[in-house]
Amino acid sequence: MIQQAEKILHQYYGYSSFRPGQKEAITHVLDQKNTLAVMPTGGGKSLCYQIPGLTLQGTAIIISPLISLMKDQVDALHSYGVAATYINSSLSHTEQQQRLRDMENGRYSFVYVAPERFDSPNFLAAINSIPLSLIAFDEAHCISQWGHDFRPSYRSIVPTLKKVANLPVLMALTATATQEVIKDIKELIDVEDTNVINTGFARDNLSFRIIKGRDKREFISEYLTQIPNESGIIYTATRKDADQLHYLLTKKGFAAGKYHAGMTEHQRKQAQMDFVQDEITTMIATNAFGMGIDKSNVRYVIHYSMPMNIESYYQEAGRAGRDGEPGDCVLLFSSQDINLQRFLIDQSPNEEKKKDEYTKLQAMVNYCHTHSCLQQYILDYFDDPTESEPCGKCTNCTHDGEEQDMTKEAQMVLSCVKRMGERFGAGLTAKVLKGSSDQKVKQFRFQDLSTYGIMPNYTEKELTRFIQFLTAEGYLSTGEGRYPSLKLTNEAVSVIKGNQPVLMLVESTTKKQKTEYNEQYFEELRQLRKSIADESNLPPYVIFSDATLKDLTIYLPES
Ligand code: ADP
Ligand code: MG
Ligand code: ZN
Repeated sequence: MIQQAEKILHQYYGYSSFRPGQKEAITHVLDQKNTLAVMPTGGGKSLCYQIPGLTLQGTAIIISPLISLMKDQVDALHSYGVAATYINSSLSHTEQQQRLRDMENGRYSFVYVAPERFDSPNFLAAINSIPLSLIAFDEAHCISQWGHDFRPSYRSIVPTLKKVANLPVLMALTATATQEVIKDIKELIDVEDTNVINTGFARDNLSFRIIKGRDKREFISEYLTQIPNESGIIYTATRKDADQLHYLLTKKGFAAGKYHAGMTEHQRKQAQMDFVQDEITTMIATNAFGMGIDKSNVRYVIHYSMPMNIESYYQEAGRAGRDGEPGDCVLLFSSQDINLQRFLIDQSPNEEKKKDEYTKLQAMVNYCHTHSCLQQYILDYFDDPTESEPCGKCTNCTHDGEEQDMTKEAQMVLSCVKRMGERFGAGLTAKVLKGSSDQKVKQFRFQDLSTYGIMPNYTEKELTRFIQFLTAEGYLSTGEGRYPSLKLTNEAVSVIKGNQPVLMLVESTTKKQKTEYNEQYFEELRQLRKSIADESNLPPYVIFSDATLKDLTIYLPES
């Protein structure tokens, strides 16, 4: 049967080969195994149920959360000459009845419905009376409380389904399954481990970039000037930003449209259509724009400011390059973005949820400060099961700077965090390291600390950035809540012990070692190590790889 599937791939769709995971998914479904396919956005999940639907006898029922998605899918199937339809609330009652009757008469190979349709006795009677080829849950993460778009109606289909007399093979498809969601879906629709296909989240055609310290509007104007005919989306965090940017760019003569929830439905529909039909090349939008828009040739997604979490970021950025061609995902970062997101989170009345959102926000902030591969950072965030190499094209992979050994500087920062009782954030820690006579420093009597003024040759800004870097790389954690207070991690302890170097990328031109390794530094490290040694009841030379003598005065490495 798989030969037949390949034939359909060539003849109906005109594609030369399967994409990763497609063949496996199709094979399992054709073998009548309930199957879960986890593939990235644009990975080609529709084919995974469409080809079995065309191969097996009977009607395929596709459950889809969005009415606009259904229409696009049905139009696409029509263009291949396949009999398909959708039944949903956008149709008149008479039209719905008509399509239901046509379905009962076996007129359709594919019928798209929203989950709520399973509450209708007429619909249930109909699917009980006809041969079905398969039932597919598109965007299956909606089934799970752990998913980011939980739909109770999705979940409640399951018990109803089990009562269908001639229940066919079931299939679930999603791009955004975490381990919890995968487990949930597997249990709900009885998928065995061997029938889970997970190609991971990686979108190899996307390149991720973070731009800091540039005028954002200027950057965008230059960017659009370079590629005037390519389609792309610019996401803003607020309607006001969208309006202003739109005004500015259209005034400069760019073919830009806008989309946000403050516009009328008519205006939004028009803007969307203009974009899909390439009347405008740039869409400036809030996150209201995107879900259910199937435009495959989006070449770039620029975030005008940092979004609230990695989930949203990856979903929005992932709208680039759905055709498999390169997509450029640019995040324009400024530290004010963090305050804006905090403010937005504060609007939520739910305290538990707030905590969770602050934690997710911190992961997003760390993404902006990390020096590791951005693609790998994202995949790690989602616990991607597949092995991955650094992407070689993100801003961190292509950084032309040099690695500088910052171990001693890190030790000073970490010492200072500890001395301050692990209760404060990056800003105040930077002040103490710098030796500032700020009001707050005095208030907490931090000028009495041994780490006060230990790094005088750095500016507060540089120190703050360095602390953010240490946080992004996992040496410091930030705890929960609105104002992150820095805490040492296990990795920090091994840095202090001298077991782990801290390397940081710096611009080759600005490379300079600013630290004076003065007596204050040596003394500080001595004391800190002594207290760690005392806590663990071991002689220092056992704990510190660079401590060769019991006397803690002469162990410091010079490398
Ligand atoms: P998903 O639902 O996983 O986000 P789609 O099913 O909408 O992705 O497919 C994304 C695009 O990839 C569509 O334009 C589709 O026609 C195309 N596509 C799917 N499978 C293949 C293939 N094997 N070869 C080439 N293009 C494909
Ligand atoms: Mg899809
Ligand atoms: Zn990379």
